[in-house]
Amino acid sequence: MGRAMRRPIIAGNWKLNNTISEAVALTTALKSLVTHCTGVEIIVAPTFTALAAIGDVIKDSNVLLAAQDVYWEDSGAFTGEVSAPMLKDVGCDYVIIGHSERRQYFGETNESVNQKVKAALSHDLKPIICVGEQLEDRERGRTDTVIENHITGGIADLSAAELLSSVIAYEPVWAIGTGKTATPAQAQEVHSLIRKLLTDAYSDEVASQIRIQYGGSVKPENAAELMAQPDVDGALVGGASLQAESFAEIVKNSI
Ligand code: PEP
Repeated sequence: MGRAMRRPIIAGNWKLNNTISEAVALTTALKSLVTHCTGVEIIVAPTFTALAAIGDVIKDSNVLLAAQDVYWEDSGAFTGEVSAPMLKDVGCDYVIIGHSERRQYFGETNESVNQKVKAALSHDLKPIICVGEQLEDRERGRTDTVIENHITGGIADLSAAELLSSVIAYEPVWAIGTGKTATPAQAQEVHSLIRKLLTDAYSDEVASQIRIQYGGSVKPENAAELMAQPDVDGALVGGASLQAESFAEIVKNSI
């Protein structure tokens, strides 16, 4: 299966931004700008507090809902956490897991990523599993080792069917929020490495169906050339997803 058979997937990670009313206004504007965008999956990931309101706004539209994190237990004495059944209940289809900011500031590890991925899948939530090297890793020639470590740790023990319900997001940490985008060739090189790792761990058939997003300063101006790479199937967008117009442009430039 080639790139043409994998449906592009563009997700906006709003991080710690937007009150409920701001989030509703942003989503309402986005929804009308992308009404006619078919053949691409469009996802927004607001904060937990805005999920229910955004779930209402996107009902019966082509925009899907994601959370930015999930805990692996379903319920219990885990103050401050939100579980997969709760995210499903509020209308999420996807959940971002292992974002580099969570790894960097909140102690996320490959093990916790893997537990969260399994919890999400067991409740029919599709994980967007983030992997990516730091600048220092790249400069020391350790990019491949870090990516292999994040991939093997994050997807440990998943069946082929579970993997096929997952999305991988390659986000070089040095490109997130910095305005420095990986070149299309740099992105392609790592995406193709990820596909090779999945081929070795599963099969060519499985690896060729998995969608791999690129993330790191994606903007309307660079989305098309990134998406033109044979193993780039979409984008995980931070800053540029906070404006309806720029996010909609990225969606349009990815089809
Ligand atoms: C992100 O946080 O996932 C991201 C890619 O951010 P930005 O687009 O702002 O670099």
